[in-house]
Amino acid sequence: MKTMKALVKKLPQKGIRMEEVPVPDIGVNDVLVKIKKTAICGTDLHIYKWDQWSQRTIKTPMIIGHEYVGTIVDMGSGVKNLKIGDRVTSEGHIACGHCRNCRRGKNHVCQNTIGTGVNIDGVFAEYAAVPASNIILVNKKINDDLIAIFDPFGNATHTALSFPVLGEDVLITGAGPIGCMAAAICRFAGARYIVVTDLNEYRLNIALKMGATKVINPTKQKITDVVKELGMVGFDLGLEMSGSPAAFTDMIDNMYNGSKIALLGILPDTTQIRWDKIIFKAIQIKGIYGREMYETWYKMEQMMLSGIDITPVITHHFSIDEFQKGFDIMEEGNCGKVILDWET
Ligand code: NAD
Ligand code: ZN
Repeated sequence: MKTMKALVKKLPQKGIRMEEVPVPDIGVNDVLVKIKKTAICGTDLHIYKWDQWSQRTIKTPMIIGHEYVGTIVDMGSGVKNLKIGDRVTSEGHIACGHCRNCRRGKNHVCQNTIGTGVNIDGVFAEYAAVPASNIILVNKKINDDLIAIFDPFGNATHTALSFPVLGEDVLITGAGPIGCMAAAICRFAGARYIVVTDLNEYRLNIALKMGATKVINPTKQKITDVVKELGMVGFDLGLEMSGSPAAFTDMIDNMYNGSKIALLGILPDTTQIRWDKIIFKAIQIKGIYGREMYETWYKMEQMMLSGIDITPVITHHFSIDEFQKGFDIMEEGNCGKVILDWET
């Protein structure tokens, strides 16, 4: 049996281990991808830390990870539209293809969706088996590092472009990698003012490089003061990307009448909401899950080909043998995207 290196969540406790495991078998409609680069997602960090969500969700042992770029090295007999040697990434949510939503073309809200590196083995490995239908071929002009982060760039794109952006004033709460990429997308899509909040100065700095008009640390400055300074009444569009109840409350307070909010950050069950404000300001709220299959991917590729620059969000590179350093810096938080290189 052929074996490979993989980052495995072996035990139900904090940490992650490099293990020697079998190379996965592929089905008739799958491809085998040799992984070049992977990026660490917040989800991987949750699993690493073994928080409550992971304890409820992950069945150990599990190879984690879903953000990558790689090369097709083998494929099942049913795969027609791809070839060996293609450089690829893939949509990490595997939709069932037969539920009500899938059949109406809304795979991103499939009722039976399976998450790569969460419900089934992921891509933090030398090889990964992927359904051909989920594979994304990206234009050769776009470099490997950028393709390795297409998955979270997709979360940012899906959220930022959920409502019209041109000429609008946007508030983004949370300058994590996704919030920072959303700032770049709003700038690219023609927003007027883009205000980004975070408690972490390192991340606020990235947001500035990505096109934010103004960044705010809410422990030092009130959003309301910045609204006045910029001569606004309130924001037209809110992108909640922190998962923090305090940030969401602040957002609602600073939205304009008739504005729109897209919620990506995962708010805790205990979050209190001033519903009366949402009602009297007539705010529209949309929950966001993943990316649209495959419209979001198409938009991402086109933004990159027409000049959006999200490179400041990539702050660290490590060889896969130094994976622990990658998780440590993610845990500490003074980083944007962290890339792990599998070809050393
Ligand atoms: P992240 O955890 O790296 O970033 C969140 C940021 O919010 C951090 O920089 C943190 O300092 C900041 N923050 C915390 N409290 C804040 C406050 N009061 N005000 C302003 N900022 C505050 O996460 P990410 O990878 O950038 O993802 C963003 C969010 O989206 C996370 O909550 C993540 O779990 C969620 N997410 C959702 C989906 C989905 O499909 N809905 C997909 C991916 C990620
Ligand atoms: Zn489905």
